[in-house]
Amino acid sequence: MTENADCLFCRIVAGEIPADIVRASNDTLAFRDVAPQAPTHVLVVPREHHRDIAVLAASDPELAGRVMADAVAVAADLGLADFRLVLNTGASAGQSVFHVHAHVMGGRDFGWPPG
Ligand code: AMP
Repeated sequence: MTENADCLFCRIVAGEIPADIVRASNDTLAFRDVAPQAPTHVLVVPREHHRDIAVLAASDPELAGRVMADAVAVAADLGLADFRLVLNTGASAGQSVFHVHAHVMGGRDFGWPPG
């Protein structure tokens, strides 16, 4: 899917909105969350616009896999032995930006189940 001019993360990918970028590949971009929920909190997004992981997995499972692989690489780059990956999917699951993104969080203890 092509870039969406109204999408916050498309605009970060395009360089129109600044972000603290920690990793970039041909397919994905990783940048720090502006409202971190853990000492390390990074978002990994595909450069292409896809609404959520359900849409992406159905339309391009290889790209979905690269998002996951790059999220794991971010954790390794940032020295996280233990980390949490979260992909909120749908508003009632907590998704607020409708461009698929993996949250990579670490540096503190997380409870389970999440609140
Ligand atoms: P979600 O609620 O799963 O859709 O996650 C969206 C995330 O994007 C939230 O954790 C926000 O703090 C984060 N966020 C919103 N605007 C920005 C921004 N300009 N740069 C980086 N992260 C952002």
